Amino acid sequence: MLTKIMRSVALAVLCFIVAPTLVVRAQSKTTPSDKFRQLEEILPTPNEQRAASGAPGRAYWQQRADYQIKVELDDVNQRITASETITYYNQSPDTLAYLWLQLDQNIWKQDSDSRLTQTAPNLERLPLSQIENILYARGFDGGYRITAVRDAKGTPLKHTSNKTMMRVDLPQPLAPGASVAFSVDWNYNINDQRKIGGRTGYEFFPKDGNYIYEIAHWFPRMAAYNDVSGWQHKQFLGAGEFTLEFGNYRVSITAPDDHIVASTGVLQNPNAVLTATQRQRYEQARTAKTPVLVVTPAEALANESHKPAGKKTWVYHADNVRDFAFASSRKFIWDAQGHNVEGNRVMAMSYYPKEGNPLWERYSTHSIIHTLNVYSRYSFNYPYPIAISVNGPVGGMEYPMICFNGPRPQEDGTYSAGTKYGLISVVIHEVGHNYFPMIVNSDERQWTWMDEGLNSFLQYLAEQEWEENYPSWRGEPQNIREYMASMNQVPIMTNSESVLQFGNNAYGKPATALNVLRETVLGRELFDFSFKQYSQRWKFKRPMPADFFRTMEDASGVDLDWFWHGWFYTTDHVDISIERVRLFQPFTGSPELDKAAQMKEREAEPQTLSQERNKSLPKRVDEFPSLRDFYNTYDELVVTERDREQYQRLLQTLTPRERELLQTGLNFYVVDLKNIGGLVSPVIFDIEYMDGTREMMRIPAEIWRYNNTEVSKLIMTTREIRAISLDPRLETADVDMANNSFPRRPVKSRFQLFKDGQAQPNPMQLLERKQPAPTPTPMP
Ligand SMILES: [Zn+2]
Repeated sequence: MLTKIMRSVALAVLCFIVAPTLVVRAQSKTTPSDKFRQLEEILPTPNEQRAASGAPGRAYWQQRADYQIKVELDDVNQRITASETITYYNQSPDTLAYLWLQLDQNIWKQDSDSRLTQTAPNLERLPLSQIENILYARGFDGGYRITAVRDAKGTPLKHTSNKTMMRVDLPQPLAPGASVAFSVDWNYNINDQRKIGGRTGYEFFPKDGNYIYEIAHWFPRMAAYNDVSGWQHKQFLGAGEFTLEFGNYRVSITAPDDHIVASTGVLQNPNAVLTATQRQRYEQARTAKTPVLVVTPAEALANESHKPAGKKTWVYHADNVRDFAFASSRKFIWDAQGHNVEGNRVMAMSYYPKEGNPLWERYSTHSIIHTLNVYSRYSFNYPYPIAISVNGPVGGMEYPMICFNGPRPQEDGTYSAGTKYGLISVVIHEVGHNYFPMIVNSDERQWTWMDEGLNSFLQYLAEQEWEENYPSWRGEPQNIREYMASMNQVPIMTNSESVLQFGNNAYGKPATALNVLRETVLGRELFDFSFKQYSQRWKFKRPMPADFFRTMEDASGVDLDWFWHGWFYTTDHVDISIERVRLFQPFTGSPELDKAAQMKEREAEPQTLSQERNKSLPKRVDEFPSLRDFYNTYDELVVTERDREQYQRLLQTLTPRERELLQTGLNFYVVDLKNIGGLVSPVIFDIEYMDGTREMMRIPAEIWRYNNTEVSKLIMTTREIRAISLDPRLETADVDMANNSFPRRPVKSRFQLFKDGQAQPNPMQLLERKQPAPTPTPMP
């Protein structure tokens, strides 16, 4: 309270000029504010591109870009040299005088906005390795060198780089329905991912002198042009990912001849790059029941000490993808398993160095197939022919048909539970991104939650189908409580680059919100139908937040504006308190019953301390009995003949039904609730009666629609209530459970006394007592 008063005093001093405006605007007569107000005032007006139902409109359009790329990976200098021909199809109703391309590699330039806006690290305690990394970053010569931009005839095109974007000026404006082809040549130095991070880069293995390359946002890509933002050319700062167009790709990747290349798309020339044995194993994998090794650990180990004799070119083709990535290394072990997703044959494949085993050979490909099964059930059948998981330096990052995942066991081959489940979860998550945003192509640079939140939600569902009690990190409402109560946060509906507490805001909170929506607000049947509707409406299209919000309402038949408003547009949290429970019992009208009951209550009232002490004092009326009169003996609770006559007269005026109503014997309990957190939520009571029976009562959030800070709920029962608990199954993310029970119960927890010190070995090392794996030696 004090801080509030002081703040308003300060505001009054500083803002006295604008204060009258604020007073006028404040909803002084609407306290509290209307949390059920319809979102139409905030959402964009529906139009021909985006219908009021949340479906693509009848005039929906999107651009298309096809790519033919030749790229060479230089394993000696860690460089990419490439050229591309882009064919851009203007399917918009607008004439375009110039085109914008994304140059995301430019984030590594010394003068990039990303670098310049980095804030100081905590210098009070800086590990040496971090200084090493800061020095590396300062010396790294990253970013594109664009060496040519030409039209289809080879004539140079005027182009201007603007940080992570490039404008190409067209000699003639590109009319609606027309297409234009042009080419770009470029090269760049690949970043050491272990030193400066990133969603792409290389990892160097000092023990054997080899590299793993994970190559992404490596070619100048068409910026998206759409009906909502025009060109989406918000600069790349590092957090907001990639907003892209669909198209077909043909990519020739030249690498040292002892490398294995994993890539988006289908390999077009297996005879030129794979041995007869590898091809045979690959064919065998198509119908195998478990993963088949295409490159065995022994072969990969032999490759590690190999020196390339030349180069090989791997040709890949991919249809209808929004991006293209690949990985390359001579360290790769490669396993594959064909899988049928409702009629679509998919090759699920994993590529990993020996350092990834035994985790990767056991879990990666299984996790891919599991993801395809679960996600396809909730959205649409996986449409691509390939799904790949690669182990390398990048902790977890997604691209069409391929993703990069980091977790590895310790050097002795043991691992913690966190690493094991971390790997399964990250593979599920990154493969899951094929659905959102690789196919449901949301605007990632603007809205991180539209891909990360929806994907984290499905990830949770997939994890729970992996094994019973899978330790999911996100999805369960109770796991988000601490974040929801924290102060340093912004609404989910915040631009990707401005999000605070990124993981909780864009992954955890929307995933939890959808879980609450599914389990508690809509129920599984309505939710699953609606979510599938959204996925199917927008696959291979570009949805915006309103399209999601509207589709979920359109398909479920439930007004969810309050839910979107509370969970997505505010930082409110759920904290409902049972303030008190009041018991009302009606008079029956019968003086015998009513007065007896009142007398019983009077007798049950405690004697006050003073009353007790005053009792023994001599009284004046005892000394002078003549002072006593009628009122000294009159008791209003003693039934009189007059009371009985009055009751009989009353009964004569009542109908038989009215007489029954007087004798119901019902207890009227009024439960007073307070909404402390501000986020309106369904109210779920677990009522325990004196006779040992229990009852669940589920009340929709609309109970708060007239007053969203305080409401009272009536419970009528012939039984007596012993206790009530609110949200007993932990489904609403109520951040303070201490005020959720009547009567209040102690909040139990345990604490540990510990000695600070060394890192603990993982349980596998302690309990499995397995022999440390010998240092691997080359096999024959
Ligand atoms: Zn993600």
